[in-house]
Amino acid sequence: MTIPREGLPSRGFSLLCKLLKNAKRENWCQCHLADQHIPQLLEKVDADVAEKVRQGGCLHCAGKLHSAKYRRKPRGQPKQDWERDQEIYRASFCCDQDGCRKRHTPPSVRFLGRKVYWGFVVVLVAAMQHGITPPRLHALREGLGVARRTVEHWREWWLHTFVQSPFWSVARARFSPPIDLKTLPLSLCEAFGVEERRDRLLALLQFLSPITTASIPLGWSM
Ligand SMILES: [Zn+2]
Repeated sequence: MTIPREGLPSRGFSLLCKLLKNAKRENWCQCHLADQHIPQLLEKVDADVAEKVRQGGCLHCAGKLHSAKYRRKPRGQPKQDWERDQEIYRASFCCDQDGCRKRHTPPSVRFLGRKVYWGFVVVLVAAMQHGITPPRLHALREGLGVARRTVEHWREWWLHTFVQSPFWSVARARFSPPIDLKTLPLSLCEAFGVEERRDRLLALLQFLSPITTASIPLGWSM
């Protein structure tokens, strides 16, 4: 796989590509992280899901849903040209009926819960922790502006919070052979074939998206 040169956002990222291009695993992670098209693709997917939630109306009464979106400032990706002049929002809705007013925040492929980094950064950087040398992990963190304790926090989240979640207790049965919990989320990336194609990263993020909201039931399907 070649690292896309066109439109690489900063010298920092070019340096990162050079640093990381040799090892295969580091290469595919890096390619995704430097991919200019991923945030736009994910935004489109989120918009489609949000529209489906809105059209479905309130899950608790017969009310209609009105926009009550959140402004977000996700980190971990240099500012893109296309977003320079626009604010970034996470879609959310409120029921219009007095006495209900329940919030409905659609599942997201961009935002992993309340974490301030793009969800795919949380997945890929945490995946790269497994098997990458400390100097290279350090270079990657520096390049993306992610503190060491943040990566450690993500690791804790994957190895404890995620594996004990109601979502995972059901979803884990889908995988044969079983996912290696000790190397999460790398083992999930491998199961989805994320190193091969961008749409496999999207498939993984869609798989994870039910955990990104507490106001839409786990069984809700897109
Ligand atoms: Zn309602």
